[in-house]
Amino acid sequence: MADAKKKRKPMIGLQPEGDVDWSQYRGVLVVVEQRKGIAKPVSLQLLGEARRLAAKLDVPVLALVMGYQVSQLAQEAIYHGADKVYLCDSPELDHYRTRPYSRVCLHVIRKYLPEIVLMGATNTGRDLAGAIATHLPTGLTADSTQLDVDEERLLLASRPAFSEKMLATILCKQFKPQMATARAGVFEQLPRDPTRTGEVIPVPPQMDAQEISTEIIEFIESFRRVNLQDADVIVAGGRGLGGPAAFGLLEELAQELGGVVGASRAVVDLGWIGHDHQVGQTGVTVRPKLYIAVGISGAVQHVVGMQNSTCIVAINKDPNAPIFKIANYGLVGDLFQIVPALIEAVRARNGEAIPMNMPVNS
Ligand SMILES: Cc1cc2nc3c(=O)[nH]c(=O)nc-3n(C[C@H](O)[C@H](O)[C@H](O)COP(=O)(O)OP(=O)(O)OC[C@H]3O[C@@H](n4cnc5c(N)ncnc54)[C@H](O)[C@@H]3O)c2cc1C
Repeated sequence: MADAKKKRKPMIGLQPEGDVDWSQYRGVLVVVEQRKGIAKPVSLQLLGEARRLAAKLDVPVLALVMGYQVSQLAQEAIYHGADKVYLCDSPELDHYRTRPYSRVCLHVIRKYLPEIVLMGATNTGRDLAGAIATHLPTGLTADSTQLDVDEERLLLASRPAFSEKMLATILCKQFKPQMATARAGVFEQLPRDPTRTGEVIPVPPQMDAQEISTEIIEFIESFRRVNLQDADVIVAGGRGLGGPAAFGLLEELAQELGGVVGASRAVVDLGWIGHDHQVGQTGVTVRPKLYIAVGISGAVQHVVGMQNSTCIVAINKDPNAPIFKIANYGLVGDLFQIVPALIEAVRARNGEAIPMNMPVNS
């Protein structure tokens, strides 16, 4: 047993070869995730956060854009905070596949030596970051909710730990790049600035079609019931609804406002609505323009997931409910009276905006 241990070689990638001058590594790189040429909001949010970190480190913000026919996205990355964009535009990258995408990432990291690499903690980001980390002499902090750097230029990536009861700050002290994936909705996207300029550096694909062992035969869009992260308006319901039926009211209000329905964990646990609607520490972190909390008390685990909403409206019959402390507007009363009245008011307003008898395109 002892001999077997001795003979075991170190895992590929875990040991850097020879002495490495880590000071050559400069810049904060954001891997921009896209779908059909449109950047995921989390990538734009990370570009904003990268600007803040890069200013502290006095280094440029770098972005990596991969895909097919995505050159306009390189420009968008610059408008949202990147100074330099590595662009790999190739038919082989039309749809995400781990190997061709991770090879491009590895090539860019090894050639341009960023000291920090960030990507969204989406399904794709999690897969890609894990695949890259196994080939580099470094670690990866997954699912971060706070990022910072210290005086030694170390990335402080914090994430909930121990069943979300505490926040752990994780450092990668010895190796570069320092890598983290980050949750959507936590960081602030900078306003798009079309006057910003930057450099676009073309990067060749690192695998040709023959080398890629997977083939995409058909792309089937899976039907997602709700996309809380990208919603501008969320109408969220809590235990105050009294049962699942009242979610119909919230659905109506959300539809009138062009939004989607969210929920507290209490009602998800009760089975009144699916988990993909849950907002909060163990659900989704959201940042809509309007968040209406209906019959939600405002427990800290809920509030951490929605406190960055631009405008918060709380409807609760208890005037001392904690949710009122963070609400911009508070309506104290019975939700079964307030919500139907709101639906009527919004419907009337929508009707005024486009009178029923007027053709929409007139
Ligand atoms: C580790 C951990 C993680 C957690 N993660 C999450 C999370 O991600 N998201 C989350 O939401 N929670 C989370 N929780 C649970 C959280 O602590 C609360 O228990 C939960 O948010 C409470 O949900 P609620 O506000 O719907 O219910 P309650 O706290 O029961 O609040 C119901 C509210 O409805 C009001 N109300 C009642 N009837 C009416 C009416 N007719 N009209 C108007 N108002 C009315 C009441 O006044 C009350 O304020 C977590 C807890 C733990 C321990």
